[in-house]
Formats: sequence, C-alpha cells, structure tokens
Amino acid sequence: MNQNRKGLLLVVSGPAGVGKGTINNTLIERNSDIRMSVSATTRAPRPGEIDGVHYFFKTEAEFEKMIAEGAFLEYMRVFDLHYYGTPKSFVEQELSEGRSVILEIDVHGAMRVKAAYPDAVLIFIAPPSMSELKSRLIHRGTESSEVIERRFETAYQELEFVKQYDYVVVNDILDLAIARTEQIISAERCRVYRNGEMIEKLQGGRNAL
Ligand code: 5GP
Repeated sequence: MNQNRKGLLLVVSGPAGVGKGTINNTLIERNSDIRMSVSATTRAPRPGEIDGVHYFFKTEAEFEKMIAEGAFLEYMRVFDLHYYGTPKSFVEQELSEGRSVILEIDVHGAMRVKAAYPDAVLIFIAPPSMSELKSRLIHRGTESSEVIERRFETAYQELEFVKQYDYVVVNDILDLAIARTEQIISAERCRVYRNGEMIEKLQGGRNAL
C-alpha cells in the first residue's frame, strides 16, 4: 500500500539573499511530483529573468484586473512598491492532481495562506547569521546599495514571523539545507491525518483475509 501521495501546499519564505530560490530549484529538479508556483509581479525583471518562468511580469493595470477577477490565492504590495501575487488556478490544479506545490512568498503572504489552507506546510529558511546574510546580498550584485539596505532591514521584520512557521531550516551548508527540507516534506507526507484513507483500507482489509 502506498504512503499518502496527495499534494502538499508548501510555503517557503526567508529573507532576500538567504538562498531559498536555490533550495527550491533543487527540490523541483529532483522531485517530479513537486512544482513551483510562478507568482505575478509588477516589478521589473532582473537581468536573466524570464516572463512565465521566474514571474509573470504584469503592469499595474493588468495586476489590478486580476485582483478584481479573484485570480489570486493571496497577493500583496511588498516594499510599498510592487505587487506580488500567487495565481490561484495553477496551485489548485496541481494539488487536485496529487502534486505538491511550493509557494516562494513573503511572510505576510504566508500568514494569509496559512489562514486559508490550515494544512499548508510553512518552512522558513534562515541564514546562519545576519552578517552572513548581508555579505550574500552584497555578493549577489543584482541590487543597488540602497535596495540592499532596505532588504536587510526587512529581514529583521521577517524574523518576527518565524514562530508562526511550522519549520525553520538554517541554510548554513546548501546540501544540508536541501536535505533538511526534503526530510520535512517526507515527514509531512507520513503524518497520520494525511493518511486517513490508507489507514481505513488497512483496517477494512481484515474481512478479506
Ligand atoms: P523578489 O523581488 O526578490 O523576487 O521578491 C521580493 C519578495 O516578494 C520576496 O520576499 C518574495 O518571497 C516575495 N514574493 C514573491 N512572490 C510573491 C507572491 O506571490 N506573494 C507574496 N505575498 N510574496 C511574494
């Protein structure tokens, strides 16, 4: 009999520069039954970012039309500048077909997902130290120093939310952080409440023997 193969709604957050994107990309490369939700945003693409792969890049008007149509599972304005949102249809489709979906979203979005989907699994990726986070942000080299400062300040605000997550994974050594995240996913699939159908089948099998 199979362990529960129903899809998990996985929310992965963490400060900019912590390496959550790298962890998530490895998870989806290794596990064909895990998909990445592609968010919509009104921010400009960074060099190398592709529309429909990293984000769906939208104008303000397009984004606000999607809000009005109820197309988002959650959305918000991050850094008081740009909209970011999770399109609902992809997530619901994948979950209903038994695949797990990762939402790489900020802490506020995560809280909204948790309220709407109490069985979502919230994982916070933390840096080994704040000084290490700052140096990763600087070395990434994709933002101006002003933006880096703002993101670093935001990191402290994001840490306030860690206690509302289900798990915290320190990204000290990338391979270890990936392994820890895979172990969380594996353990979550084994939770008794996610395996009710399988347990009932075991119990019901007695008469057939
Ligand atoms: P970035 O501009 O660096 O790609 O993302 C900025 C922040 O927006 C990150 O904290 C990221 O997790 C968050 N974010 C990306 N997509 C979404 C989304 O769909 N919803 C919410 N609430 N936050 C998002």
